[in-house]
Amino acid sequence: MRCCRMFTLLALLVIGTLASAQEGKVSDAKSKKQVLRTAQAKDFSELADRFMKESLALSPVNASQAGYHKHALPGGRVIELDALLDDYSEHGFEEKRQFYRQWQTTFHGVDRNKLNPEEDADWQIIDDNISLSLLDLQRVEKYKHNPTIYVEDIGNALFLPMTQAYASKEVRLGHVLARVGEIPTAVKQAKTVLVDADPIFVSTAIEENDGNVDLIETTLKEEIPAASPLAEKYAAVAPSAIQALQDFSQWLKDDLGKRPPSRTWRLGKEFYPDKFRYVLETPVTPEQILADAERELKEVRAEMLRLAMPMHKQMYPDHSDHGDLPSHERENLVVGEVLERISDDHVQPDQLFNQVNSDLAGITQFIRQKNIVGLSDRHNLKVIPTPVFMRHLLRGGFPQRSAARAQRRSRILGDTHRARHAEGRSRVQAAGVQQLRPEVAEHPRSHARPLHPV
Ligand SMILES: [Zn+2]
Repeated sequence: MRCCRMFTLLALLVIGTLASAQEGKVSDAKSKKQVLRTAQAKDFSELADRFMKESLALSPVNASQAGYHKHALPGGRVIELDALLDDYSEHGFEEKRQFYRQWQTTFHGVDRNKLNPEEDADWQIIDDNISLSLLDLQRVEKYKHNPTIYVEDIGNALFLPMTQAYASKEVRLGHVLARVGEIPTAVKQAKTVLVDADPIFVSTAIEENDGNVDLIETTLKEEIPAASPLAEKYAAVAPSAIQALQDFSQWLKDDLGKRPPSRTWRLGKEFYPDKFRYVLETPVTPEQILADAERELKEVRAEMLRLAMPMHKQMYPDHSDHGDLPSHERENLVVGEVLERISDDHVQPDQLFNQVNSDLAGITQFIRQKNIVGLSDRHNLKVIPTPVFMRHLLRGGFPQRSAARAQRRSRILGDTHRARHAEGRSRVQAAGVQQLRPEVAEHPRSHARPLHPV
């Protein structure tokens, strides 16, 4: 994989030399390449398209996620990205840094006055994306401090080809097994580049890594037809991959987890404002957003009380309107009581997926009927249980906390029934649902990364 990317860069350099020889006047090597690249592209969108595809080819797991499966190299050879893992060596990260720096120079050389408004918007998105990648690779250096990125990448790498439909099942399983075969190398690389980590990242990575082992030992194994070439390949690659993953968990616990962390899970003031700007693409500062949110919170809470009052009266006829309480506590109590009663009406655990699927159908129908937005005829949205390797994303959210809160409240109220109820509900929520992304990378926007914990 690395040699292929090197080849791409080399090829560009060779063409660059030829073109600049004709140009004659450009002295700086960088601007030569820049002029060349700009001239090479018929227009901006061709440049943007090439950037997007090359950056995805540099991160095959992201490519699977974005739905970009085959990457054509300049010589015409096509690589199957779904069969590759990312290069997690220091050299691999350096290559990414170089790649984004070069493209940043290229895009900064584009004359934005000549772009139409849509292209100019794309330019901004791409520029922010490049800045975000460089912020991470050069300053935050998450890859040195967060083991969950490797564990989640490996999980996604195996899981995505199993659940997408870009090729026949046999081909996709072949891709997954090729990736399984690369796991020992990937783990070895991750161990080399990881320096230290916040304890929460270490424990989360260990937990999610169990999900990866299970994915290979159970989920993948069940998909492989017995006595097939795929079964032979599985037998050849699975044991050492499982061993490598188990060793990695042990190493996380005994080695990385014992090193004093040089930073916490928070990005902090040093990096957060930049990340905020690149992700949200807004000139507004985090402080301004916080002030706006705090002001709006007051208005929203007042509105919630206004809406809850008539329901509270109906649901709890023997309660007063709690007008004797200070306003903040009154809002908490009245709205809390009403929400509590509303949440009593919920689907049972074994009916959750049916319910979500029927809700989905209902919402789709509503959007079509009311002509809210145009929906294509493609049906590639699946509702599936959240795989173990990505469950921390939910666990970090409200489900556990809401259960704990409900249990605490129940203890105060001495209502064991409600406590059981809350527990059941949290189990359902923890099972969660996972929406798969559409399998097409049509636009640089699909390149945008989700906002990570700050
Ligand atoms: Zn009340």
